[in-house]
Amino acid sequence: TAAPAERTTFGGLQDKDRIFTNIYGRHDPFIKGAEKRGDWHRTKDIVVKGSDWIVDQMKKSGLRGRGGAGFPSGLKWSFMPKVSDGRPSYLVVNGDESEPGTCKDREIMRHEPHKLVEGCLIAGVGMRARAGYIYVRGEFVSERKAVMRAIDEAYAKGYLGKNACGSGYDFDLNIHWGAGAYICGEETALIESLEGKQGKPRLKPPFPANVGLYGCPTTVTNVETVAVSPTILRRGPEWFASFGRKNNHGTKLFAISGHVNRPVTVEEEMSISLKELIERHAGGVRGGWDNLLAIIPGGSSVPLLPKTLCDDVLMDFDALKERQSGLGTAAVIVMDKTTDPIEAIARLSYFYKHESCGQCTPCREGTGWLYDIMTRMKKGDARVEEIDMLWEVTKQIEGHTICALGDAAAWPVQGLIRHFRPLMEQRIEQASEELHERIAA
Ligand code: SF4
Repeated sequence: TAAPAERTTFGGLQDKDRIFTNIYGRHDPFIKGAEKRGDWHRTKDIVVKGSDWIVDQMKKSGLRGRGGAGFPSGLKWSFMPKVSDGRPSYLVVNGDESEPGTCKDREIMRHEPHKLVEGCLIAGVGMRARAGYIYVRGEFVSERKAVMRAIDEAYAKGYLGKNACGSGYDFDLNIHWGAGAYICGEETALIESLEGKQGKPRLKPPFPANVGLYGCPTTVTNVETVAVSPTILRRGPEWFASFGRKNNHGTKLFAISGHVNRPVTVEEEMSISLKELIERHAGGVRGGWDNLLAIIPGGSSVPLLPKTLCDDVLMDFDALKERQSGLGTAAVIVMDKTTDPIEAIARLSYFYKHESCGQCTPCREGTGWLYDIMTRMKKGDARVEEIDMLWEVTKQIEGHTICALGDAAAWPVQGLIRHFRPLMEQRIEQASEELHERIAA
């Protein structure tokens, strides 16, 4: 593969460069099949190289967290204490995947559980943790069972526990499942939930790397981020960094849903164009590309993009940020021209109102206001000036809350106003005319 700086087109990942070769479950997901696919191959050699080497390799790979925020993974792992003050360090893996449109970690847990389990050992060593917890979304019953079986198999083989893989490093791995709250995907709410409390986000600072699970240094990291780490270390950080553009390296799981001919979760090269991603892997937009109205490129928490901004956009952190949206979880929600975008965003407003934990006022009250106003907007039962008021409510929520759920509720509404304001005004004017006609009759 050519150096990223020399390339201008991306995508068309070949099978030999896929990390998740069993993502569709066509082969045995458990130990025999996993070992055939290369999992647990000379893991001891990686473990004995130690924490500094692992973190350094992860930094060189350019991997950015796959949970949505895109923070550089090696850097995040390096925040854990190098010298213990007597408190243990913990690895926590976030498998609480609940973002609307997102179904990639689910596929890893179902079909590639050993990549996740092996990745936990490696990430654990990188963070100097002796114990890890995988927090699995409550509704994921078969996924939980698959991960539990993979953990049992790894213990039986001596890959986990005392002297893991014969490396002299002791590492235990546990599984915990949630009870269906979206907010438990927020890292500090997840920690609270693991501790047996209500899943309510904590104020930061202190950050989890200092005060996390049970008051000890903790790093919470996404399933995909952990599961790709063994392959990166085996094949080398340069290999991973050769995919995608500068600052947006690697391969990535994309979940494509909505108005496409063939919804799919697929591993592709970072920075592939949105159009090629959809046409190559999801059978194209229903009715053809010209029938596209808009997409939400990264799970429901990022602003939607109208078709004019989709035609040439690349699927990576920086390109989508430039268009005032984001890669998020890389869950692409496609809407064709049959979609009412006002109703679609109103439905998302309901989701955030329902999932708000209620502990801070701008989110608790603001998400309710957004939903109430959006419910009227979809019928045109509003005044045109209320569009500005709706925008102002989103601005009062954004950046004024304990956790990012408030921002996540505000951004889709902002995206709607930014790109579909004429439609909103037209709907209001039409409803007003109809009302006047009814009164006159
Ligand atoms: Fe709870 Fe919302 Fe505040 Fe987050 S932003 S802590 S979900 S009320």
